[in-house]
Amino acid sequence: MKFIDLQSQFAAYEADIRAGMDEVLRSSQFILGPKGAELERGLASYVGVRHAFGCSSGTDALLLALMAHGVGPGDEIITTPFTFIATAEVVALAGATPVFVDIEPLTYNIDPRKVEEVLTKKTRGIIAVSLYGQCADIEALLKIASEYGLFLVEDGCQSFGATRNGTRSCGFPHVGTTSFFPSKPLGCYGDGGMVFTSDDRIADRIAGLRNHGQWERYRHRAIGINGRLDEIQAAVLLAKFPHFPAEVERRAEAGAYYSKALGDVVTVPAIVPGNTHVYAQYSIRTPRRDELAAHLNENGIPTAVHYPIPLHRQEAFSGLGYGEGDFPVASAVSREILSLPMSAFLSRKDQDEVIRQVRRFFGG
Ligand SMILES: *Cc1c(COP(=O)(O)O)cnc(C)c1O
Repeated sequence: MKFIDLQSQFAAYEADIRAGMDEVLRSSQFILGPKGAELERGLASYVGVRHAFGCSSGTDALLLALMAHGVGPGDEIITTPFTFIATAEVVALAGATPVFVDIEPLTYNIDPRKVEEVLTKKTRGIIAVSLYGQCADIEALLKIASEYGLFLVEDGCQSFGATRNGTRSCGFPHVGTTSFFPSKPLGCYGDGGMVFTSDDRIADRIAGLRNHGQWERYRHRAIGINGRLDEIQAAVLLAKFPHFPAEVERRAEAGAYYSKALGDVVTVPAIVPGNTHVYAQYSIRTPRRDELAAHLNENGIPTAVHYPIPLHRQEAFSGLGYGEGDFPVASAVSREILSLPMSAFLSRKDQDEVIRQVRRFFGG
């Protein structure tokens, strides 16, 4: 059994993927060409924003969002300690300081009620992560952002395709970012990402910053990065994207099927009213997490832990001065969380086997 079944997906779309890649090979246009532009138009319209920029990764998409807002030394950016390292890594890379706020116990997303406690004169913005594929409490965060003159970035690297009160993830003010890392809900065959915004001024900044600070060839008005998406990856994404809405539905079905079958033995994902979930990860909670993972792995079922060590306890961030006891919700969840096999191509047979083995572990 595969944790994420990319092989079946490739088999299903192989002809289109190969045709798109061949076109790029024949055109010999590999960077900033027509495929990337077509993808940007298509995904901007899907998300419901005016501008989208293909990036070299989800990490660079986040970095560009910060650079476009002029984030630098002396600035503080508020985010969650319960996420992939990239969310806070880019804050440090931009020269600023990540300031962590604990998560909500039900959604595992940043708790807006705790954001005001850490605001200082140096606070410039908030990065909300829509973890596992469910949007964070964007309205509450936007309210704080507008009250204190901050910007909001949604790290939608796991939530592309999800909606919140009718708006698609990455479509909220001020900037949304996503990742096309192969295992993400919409994945390419290497690294890739995208920034989304309807703010024309920020869009113009990102357009040049992702291309070495060039708005005109060989005139560098700012220090930028090599942050572009390549045409081969854009071709893969263009071939996959027409199937994406159906995949999002299929993932939601698979998630609901797990939750119905397992809700009495483990804590299953809670979906907040108004949200839809894309289950980039289908993650359950149990105090017996390590034993359950061992049982599943012994029975041929792959699992993963997202994430075993919250960011405030990572060596890379030891300089921030946080203690073991900070962020008790994030720490508790990191000890109990376990992701089960999930993808749009997860078969009912395999899913039934996962369910059977989880239930067997708990004696029923
Ligand atoms: C995957 C991920 C990233 C980074 O994306 P890359 O494309 O791997 O650079 C950032 N934030 C979150 C929440 C992620 O899951």
